[in-house]
Amino acid sequence: RAKGSLTVDICFYEADMDQAVRARRRVTQALREALDNERFELHYQVQASVQTGKATGYEVLLRWKDEDGRYVPPSDFIPVAEETGLILPIGEWVLRQACKQAAAWAESHKIAVNLSPIQLSHVDLPGLVQQILKETGLDASRLELEITETAMISDMERTTHVLRQLKALGVTIAMDDFGTGYSSLSTLRAFPFDKIKLDRSFMTELDGDEPQSQAIIRAVLTIGESLSIPVLAEGVETAEQLAFLRAQGCNEVQGYLLGRPQPEADALTNGAAQIATPLSGGDQSAEARA
Ligand code: C2E
Ligand code: MG
Ligand code: MG
Ligand code: MG
Repeated sequence: RAKGSLTVDICFYEADMDQAVRARRRVTQALREALDNERFELHYQVQASVQTGKATGYEVLLRWKDEDGRYVPPSDFIPVAEETGLILPIGEWVLRQACKQAAAWAESHKIAVNLSPIQLSHVDLPGLVQQILKETGLDASRLELEITETAMISDMERTTHVLRQLKALGVTIAMDDFGTGYSSLSTLRAFPFDKIKLDRSFMTELDGDEPQSQAIIRAVLTIGESLSIPVLAEGVETAEQLAFLRAQGCNEVQGYLLGRPQPEADALTNGAAQIATPLSGGDQSAEARA
C-alpha cells in the first residue's frame, strides 16, 4: 500500500510540474508581449522625512496591466522575469522611464528604483545607468538604487565592485528589506550603503505591542546612527507606528499612512499634502526624545 500511494504522489507531482511549466511559459510569453506593447506602468510611492514631514523622494514600483486591465502584482511576475532573463530588458525600461519622468518633475525629488540581483550581475549596469542619466538629463544625485542583500551574498566581491562603480556616478544605494535575510549585518559591513530600508514585517509586528519588535527597531536605528546611515521604515500604516518611529529617531518613513503607490500624477499631487497631518504634533516627541 505504501508503494501504491507513492506512485500516486509522483503522478500528482508530475501533473503539478507540467502545469507549473505551462503556467510559466504563459507568463513568459505575456511578459514579452507586455514589453513590446508598453503594458507596463510605473507607480510612485512617497517617502518622507520624519523631521520635516516633507516628501524626500518616491519609490518606483512596477505595475503590469494584463489584457483584462487588471494589475498583476510584481511578486507574481518578477520571479519569472528573473528566471527567463526578461528582467534585463524590463529593468532597463523601468530605469529609463523613471529617469525620464522624474527629469520632467517641477521639484527635484529623488526617485528610488528597485534592482534585481540579475541586473547587478549583468556586466554593463554602471554603463547603462550612466547612459540613461545622460540621455534623460536626470541629475545622478536624484537617482537611488535599491538592492536587497540577496544580491550581495551570491558574489559579494563582484557586487560591491559594481556598486562602487555606480556610486562613482553620483547615484546613491539603499539596502532594501533590511533585517529579513541571513546576513544583514555583514552586508552592511561589506559596502557603504547610503540608506537602510527597514523591512515592513517589523512594522506589522509592532502592532501587537511586541517588545521584541520594538527592541529590534531601536537596535537597527542605533546601528544606522552609529554608521551614519539614515534609516527609512517601510510599511508604516498607522499613526501609532509613526509616533513610535519618531520618538526613536527614525529618519524617513514610507507606507500607506503617507500614501499608496499611485500613478505618477496622483502621487505627485497627493503625496506631500497627506504627510502634514500624521506628522503633526512632532514638537512633543522632539521634547520626549531630548
Ligand atoms: P519593495 O521594494 O520592498 O517595495 C515595497 C512594497 O511594499 C511594494 O509592494 C509596496 O506597494 C508595498 N507597500 C508599501 N507601503 C505599504 C504599506 O504600508 N503596507 C503594505 N502592506 N504594503 C506596503 P509591490 O509594489 O507589490 O512590490 C513588491 C516587490 O516587488 C518590491 O518590494 C520589489 O522587491 C519588487 N519590485 C517592484 N517593482 C520592481 C521593479 O521595477 N524592479 C524590480 N527588480 N523589482 C521590483
Ligand atoms: Mg524597494
Ligand atoms: Mg522593501
Ligand atoms: Mg520587499
